[in-house]
This record gives sequence, C-alpha cells and structure tokens, in this order.
Amino acid sequence: MDTLNVDVAIVGAGPAGSRAAFCLARAGARVALIDGSHPREKPCGGGVTGRALALVADAVDTARLPSRRIHAARFVDAAAGRSITVPLGADALVVASRAEFDGLLLDAARGAGTQFVAARAVDVTRSPDGFVVDTGSRRVAARRLIGADGPNSLVRRRLARPFARADLSIATGYFAHGAATDDIVVELAADPPGYLWSFPRPGHLAVGICGQADAGATASDLRSRTAHWMDRLALADGARLEPYSWPIPSLSAAAFRALTVAGPEWFLAGDAAGLVDPITREGIYFALRSGELAAQAALSSGDAHVRYQEQVHDEITADLAIAARYKAGFFRPRFARLLIDALTDSAGVRAVMADLVAGRRAYSSLKWSLAGTFEVGLAWRLLTAS
Ligand SMILES: Cc1cc2nc3c(=O)[nH]c(=O)nc-3n(C[C@H](O)[C@H](O)[C@H](O)COP(=O)(O)OP(=O)(O)OC[C@H]3O[C@@H](n4cnc5c(N)ncnc54)[C@H](O)[C@@H]3O)c2cc1C
Repeated sequence: MDTLNVDVAIVGAGPAGSRAAFCLARAGARVALIDGSHPREKPCGGGVTGRALALVADAVDTARLPSRRIHAARFVDAAAGRSITVPLGADALVVASRAEFDGLLLDAARGAGTQFVAARAVDVTRSPDGFVVDTGSRRVAARRLIGADGPNSLVRRRLARPFARADLSIATGYFAHGAATDDIVVELAADPPGYLWSFPRPGHLAVGICGQADAGATASDLRSRTAHWMDRLALADGARLEPYSWPIPSLSAAAFRALTVAGPEWFLAGDAAGLVDPITREGIYFALRSGELAAQAALSSGDAHVRYQEQVHDEITADLAIAARYKAGFFRPRFARLLIDALTDSAGVRAVMADLVAGRRAYSSLKWSLAGTFEVGLAWRLLTAS
C-alpha cells in the first residue's frame, strides 16, 4: 500500500481541520488533510458569527461566501403567541450553507500547499516515528497528528475516550427548501432543555431543535416537535423538507474541567475536542480558533501538548464551563417567559442577548451584565438557583 510521509496528518476537513491545515501549510510544514466527504452539506444552522468570519479573513474572501446577513433575532413564546425582535447590530452574524463555507476553507488550505487525501480514515495507530492514518487504500505517516473529525472522532476514540452520552446533545430538524425569513427565530424549550431555531440561508431555512442526548426524547420525537413548531409559526408552508440529525458536544462544567484535548504529539480540535458553547451550541468559531492553536502547537517543540491543553483551557473551556453551569437555568420555563418580558421592557437586556447570539460576550461577564439590568433580576435568580 502506498504511504504518504508528512510532518502533520489531520483527520477531518471541517472548519477545525481546514483551518489547522491552512496555518500549517502557510508556515511551510508538510501537511496531509484526510476527509472523504467533500463537497458535503453538514447538518448545521450555518450561523457564522462576525468573530468567526474575522478569524478566517486572511484565508477566505468572505465576500465570495453566498450568505444571508442577519440583522435581528426574533425570540418567541409560541404557546403564548408572544415574540420580541432583538436587533443584533452590523456584522454580528451571517448564515451560510456549510457546503459553501467549508468548501472555501478547504480551498484555502489546498491553495496554501496542503495535500488533500479524499478518503475516510478507517484506523489510526501509533508508530515508532509518530502515527499512521490508514484509509484502506492509502497510508499517511506523520510525526504529529491532529484529530478534527467531529463529535464521533476516530482519533479521540483511539487516543483518548469517546464522549459520554450525557455530554452530547441531539440536533435534528429540516432544511426547508424554498422558504425564507429575514431574521433568525429562536424559542427556548424546557422539555427537553434546549431550543428551537430557524436560520435563513440563501434558498432555504435551516430549522431545528437541540436537546441533551440523555434527556429521554428520541430524534424522531424532536423532529416532529420541530415540524409542529414550523406549522405553528407558519415558517415553511409549502417548502420541500429535507430532514437531518447530528450530535453536538454539549459538555457539563465537570466534563469541561476533566477534558483532555491533547497528548504527546497529538491534538484534538473543534467538535472532536468538545469545544462547543453548551447553551447556544455555537461551534464554528471554536473549531476555527482551536484549529489555529493546534497548528501552532504542532509546529512547536517540547511539551507542545501541555501548552495546547493550557491555551484551550484559558481561551475557550474556562468560559464554556461557566456557560455549562448556567445551562439548566436558561431552559427553565419560567426563565424563558421572564426573558421575553425582560427583552420587551429593557434595552439593556436586549443588548446582552444580542451579544450572546453574536458570541461577543464572555459568560464570565454575563452575571454582571444582567445584574446591571434590574428588570431581569428575578430571571437571574432563577437562572442561578440550584
Ligand atoms: C444541527 C446543528 C446546528 C448547528 N448550528 C450551528 C450554528 O449555527 N453555528 C455554529 O457556530 N455552530 C453550529 N453547530 C455546531 C457546528 O456545526 C460544529 O461545532 C462545527 O461544524 C465543528 O467543526 P469541526 O471542524 O470540529 O467538525 P465538523 O464540521 O463536524 O467536521 C468534521 C469533518 O471530519 C470528517 N470526518 C469524520 N470522521 C472522519 C474519518 N474517520 N476520516 C476522515 N474524515 C472524517 C467529516 O466528514 C467532517 O467533514 C451546529 C451543529 C449541529 C449538529
């Protein structure tokens, strides 16, 4: 079997893997990026925050990305027939197809010199010189390895531990072809705790629900709930519905504290590392940023994995662990109702929520931001009550 020898092998060419490959190839490393799925649509809302777009501006001409610029988020309480529209501000969020967005990132990685191996990795083993990634028809041998292969990561399963079911959420819904809205629409849900969303992409809506995987609802229960919600809000009347389901890492605070994202000569990035906001489920920004950090680590010498683990903690998981502590409170029915009241009454609360949707505000500052808006005082007590 033919063997390709490189400095760094990356399994998975989503945002994390393609970003890592771009950074490594631009720095002159020999890098192989292994993924047999492209071009592909990933089950995803496709909400790309302004901070995520800013991160890739050196690699991708974001003006070439077919996308919808989102100016407002509509928070709804469908049962009570209430809603409030929250302006998001310029450059907060665009919504795009993941075939388009991920395709541009992969093109940038290839343009920088990455060798793309269009195949699925079927095994990953250690060797005296590093690692061997086996695709069944070809081997890639590398001194260092990055696992960017999503929530069911083969690299994670071989070198660390798979995620516990309690640390995953199920996200399921429909691409509604031919339907359109101007704003994103969001409703917090209590049972199972999570939320429903509708994100307008060019040509279709991505509509869905996410809930913790161990909360007792099956993907099919959740999808029929999404269909009911779409009917109630008349979001996609007459549209062609294409169903999807996919897991999202959604870790508890304890799981974030115990999280392993690297070991000697190997690094996990993006969903494979568990780096998703457990409340909003924003993952694209963290995938891109951890891809960059993993590339820097793979280029450096010594205990690079120890530094990577520390950087991911300091920049990403310390704050996501705070989000995980707030999560239960966010999805209580009383909180959802009070939040709509507070959003209706207070420009301060609207500004805080706009920042959360756009990923512009750290959870470590959320308590103080909300405390400054007295209308949400009761909601805040509910959120933080044990
Ligand atoms: C329904 C849903 C809605 C979401 N909405 C949003 C949103 O609006 N905004 C947001 O920021 N985040 C959202 N997320 C989260 C976001 O999709 C992920 O966090 C993000 O895609 C992570 O990027 P990644 O590169 O780590 O992994 P992925 O994008 O999952 O890419 C992993 C890649 O690895 C490949 N792969 C897997 N196994 C192998 C293998 N054995 N060999 C080779 N290749 C392999 C896959 O084919 C895939 O291309 C959503 C998630 C879901 C499920």
